[in-house]
Amino acid sequence: MSAQHDTDTVYLDNNATTRVAPEVVGEMLPYFAGKYGNPSSTHRFGGALLRDIETARGRVAELINCEPSEIVFTSCGTESDNTAIFGGVGALGSGGGAEIVTIITTKVEHPAVLQPCRELRGRGCKVVEIGVAPDGELNWDEYGAALAAPGRKFVSMMWANNETGVIFPVERAANAAREAGAVFHTDAVQAVGKLAEVDMAKVPVSMLSLSGHKLHAPKGVGALFVRRGVRVRPFMCGGHQERGMRAGTENVPYIIGLGRAAELAREELCGGVSTERLARLRDRLEEGLMKLPDASVNGGGARRLPNTLNIGFSYIEGESMLMYLSDCGICASSGSACTSGSLEPSHVIRAMGVPFTAAHGSLRFSFGRYNTDGDVDRVLAVMPGIVEKLRAMSPFVG
Ligand code: PLP
Repeated sequence: MSAQHDTDTVYLDNNATTRVAPEVVGEMLPYFAGKYGNPSSTHRFGGALLRDIETARGRVAELINCEPSEIVFTSCGTESDNTAIFGGVGALGSGGGAEIVTIITTKVEHPAVLQPCRELRGRGCKVVEIGVAPDGELNWDEYGAALAAPGRKFVSMMWANNETGVIFPVERAANAAREAGAVFHTDAVQAVGKLAEVDMAKVPVSMLSLSGHKLHAPKGVGALFVRRGVRVRPFMCGGHQERGMRAGTENVPYIIGLGRAAELAREELCGGVSTERLARLRDRLEEGLMKLPDASVNGGGARRLPNTLNIGFSYIEGESMLMYLSDCGICASSGSACTSGSLEPSHVIRAMGVPFTAAHGSLRFSFGRYNTDGDVDRVLAVMPGIVEKLRAMSPFVG
């Protein structure tokens, strides 16, 4: 068993995962003890759990403003993305003699979207990956051209980027897809609970993925919004659960936890107080770090999530900065999340064309509910020394 995290740690890696809210833990605990029935059982133990699952479904639905019947519980954001893509494209007919389906996605998606799309390319679909501008914004002309192509089309476009926080114009993109007769899925794993604009009554997406552990619920639970009338071929079969959309006995404690987390997120989002607070903390950190020489914000020119700062320090390695920060009790993440141990910057940073020297020295700080001004002070106190020390050792600085 690994050690418990100490309370002195400054945790600024909330886009990777969030701390489970105490209110969420409290609401989950009875479901590991007395409330242990199977929701499919017809006796009273089962019926009570089925009702509790429906309460959780209603709370998740309220967070994104949809009907409870449009929410399907899954095991994580990755499963939601896979279900939407394989299930949505499957319902359109994926090649195999029928008209070829074109999948339109972007170069900066999470692998949970990119990999299923590439897998479907191997099965006969045409896949178009739309590029981004240097500040991470969607190349709208490329998107428009892809939508104008003839035939059946499926779009998967993230709401907000996990590495840079850059927000895509999902409402506009979903409207354009609707006009072109395309099914539109959005990976909103980083946007749900952070942006009030994630509103299914206003944005005409066909499907939306969300994940519990990005909004103070535990890891291992997620949901897929499927708008009424949208056809999806079930990805998991072998049971009637989730109205046949996702077979398998429900993970009751985690679904209950996701419901409570969604309720807390909605309370915070109402009135915009949490968004303003996160943006204020992030902006203070950004201003302080930008005073250091040769620093630049990746995605700085674009509209971004209020909680995310991806900042590059030229001529030094992000991984080395992370180690020094970790020694000071600060948890952040590499802003260019090197792929599989290679020294190549991530596909997101590469797609933005960030210069090599800055790409390698990128850090991501992502704030959450429990961060304070004291956390910003701690980072600002140590970063100048870390940057100076590493620059002194850098082979790139003369
Ligand atoms: N999509 C995005 C944008 C993410 O940031 C993540 C996780 O980091 C996922 C999908 C995958 O979610 P999960 O970890 O719940 O499988």
